[in-house]
Amino acid sequence: SPSRSSVIIVGAGISGISASKVLAEKGVDDIIILEASDRIGGRIRKEQFGGVSVELGAGWIAGVGGRESNPVWELATEAGLRTCLSDYSNARYNIYDRSGKIFPSGIAADSYKRAVDSAIQKLRNQEDGHDDVTSKIMEPPSTPKTPIELAIDFILHDFEMAEVEPISTYVDFGEREFLVADQRGYDCLLYKMAESFLFTSEGRILDGRLQLNKVVRELQHSRTGIRVITEDGCVYEANYVILSVSIGVLQSDLISFNPPLPRWKMEAIEKCDVMVYTKIFLKFPYKFWPSGPEKEFFIYAHERRGYYTFWQHMENAYPGSNILVVTLTNEESKRVEAQSDEETLIEAMAVIRDMFGPNIPDAIDILVPRWWNNRFQRGSYSNYPIISNLNVFHNIKAPVGRVFFTGEHTSERFNGYVHGGYLAGIDTGKALLEEMWKEKERKKENQSLL
Ligand code: FAD
Repeated sequence: SPSRSSVIIVGAGISGISASKVLAEKGVDDIIILEASDRIGGRIRKEQFGGVSVELGAGWIAGVGGRESNPVWELATEAGLRTCLSDYSNARYNIYDRSGKIFPSGIAADSYKRAVDSAIQKLRNQEDGHDDVTSKIMEPPSTPKTPIELAIDFILHDFEMAEVEPISTYVDFGEREFLVADQRGYDCLLYKMAESFLFTSEGRILDGRLQLNKVVRELQHSRTGIRVITEDGCVYEANYVILSVSIGVLQSDLISFNPPLPRWKMEAIEKCDVMVYTKIFLKFPYKFWPSGPEKEFFIYAHERRGYYTFWQHMENAYPGSNILVVTLTNEESKRVEAQSDEETLIEAMAVIRDMFGPNIPDAIDILVPRWWNNRFQRGSYSNYPIISNLNVFHNIKAPVGRVFFTGEHTSERFNGYVHGGYLAGIDTGKALLEEMWKEKERKKENQSLL
């Protein structure tokens, strides 16, 4: 017979864990957490590479040092997580062309300023409405064409939109970003949280309420309850479900809903873009790149936008690790995911040789995460169109009967971030508690009427 509980939480990423914790703390402890993969953490994921622990997913605690305190920074402080400050602002002064020359800082600064102005203008035009020709007194924003313009356009739009429009993370929590550089991994924050309500021993979660390798494939929902069916044929019943899977998974056909989700929900889910963000790690026998104070980030300018553009060395995080990281996004991420790692290594080495000359050594190892092709992720994080209707967001978040939604994509202010996922989980947990309380009151009333 199917196992029965009050609430089933689908997904054990940071939002699923924080939602479960809220429920457990309020005494709702007959919960079941169903996680498709063999670990908790979701998009917070470490892996041993080249002798150190690298973060394939979230790597930074973004938004520190401001007027409000970032809750994830608080968790990190409690856990004594080892981090180091990242300063991207110098990246624009370390832009290499294909012959290995660094663009003079004046040229870089000028191009940067023009790109920011142009992006701001584009945004204003969008806000004014696309087709209102009469109000467009300003010139149309210019399109980047040269390698340096393309490189700057890439870092501006795919990394630091903060210079173009205010981003709540930085406005609320501050502008500093800390790279997690801890052998225990970023996910140790999740284990700490889980420990407070799940039975653990020696750092392992042994609580039967957390079930790993349970891929939810079907959700039957009605006015009276929910039935969840997993890929291995197990059936679970509950009064409520909290669904914490990513926006990419919601857009895919991994989980079928019976009855289907209403049209307003489906339309909202379709409208949210999925960003793919890929950090490729390369291990070298020795260090050949500059690693002074303002050299952590560097940029490669190529005539193809986003082609191995954004680089970071890991000497600050792990001195002597001899690791470089290059970040690709969207179409370049998908392209690289579809080819073999050997092909990617050849491409990356050609780029590094353009920058540092032909005599540098070959990389001895490469790690290419595949967030796009992972059927439990289907991308890296949500990206709401800049001019998006608030309705889209509200509809993505709104419950459908007994099915509640959480995850970074349901965080209005902080979507796309770890703290977004964390706060969304708390929010959804509280909303569900309120609904449970209301249902109890309704039942009481009905009983007293009888
Ligand atoms: P997830 O972590 O995706 O959790 C959802 C869980 O549901 C997963 O464990 C998944 O396996 C599971 N699941 C999916 N389908 C099913 C199913 N059918 N049945 C059961 N379980 C299922 N944020 C930052 O703050 N700083 C950063 O530097 C940063 N960098 C990032 C870099 C990359 C490459 C990526 C991928 C993300 C990055 N993020 C960053 C974003 C951050 O990682 C996410 O916002 C956050 O971890 C999302 O948490 P979540 O709980 O919403 O989702």
